[in-house]
Amino acid sequence: MNLLQKLFGGSSAKSEQRYYTFSVKCNRCGEVIEGHVDLNNDLSVEYGEGGDVFQAHKTLIGENRCFQRMEVELKFTSARELIERQVTGGQFVS
Ligand SMILES: [Zn+2]
Repeated sequence: MNLLQKLFGGSSAKSEQRYYTFSVKCNRCGEVIEGHVDLNNDLSVEYGEGGDVFQAHKTLIGENRCFQRMEVELKFTSARELIERQVTGGQFVS
């Protein structure tokens, strides 16, 4: 067993749900940048009357010569289901 397999515990069904992945397209240069949220570590909880909301914030910067930053906001339920997502500086393509 190599190190990566030890770290990620092999390929179980659980590990597939650990990351929420998305792609955003830069409004300035059109570059598509992929990002992901670690649902175990990247979420901060906000306690609400209708249930707890788990939020994540990501800043994406492309590899082209473009200084546009894309700020991504994601909200999940306690079951890690996406409630809503927003991006400034770009748009979601997946
Ligand atoms: Zn760009």
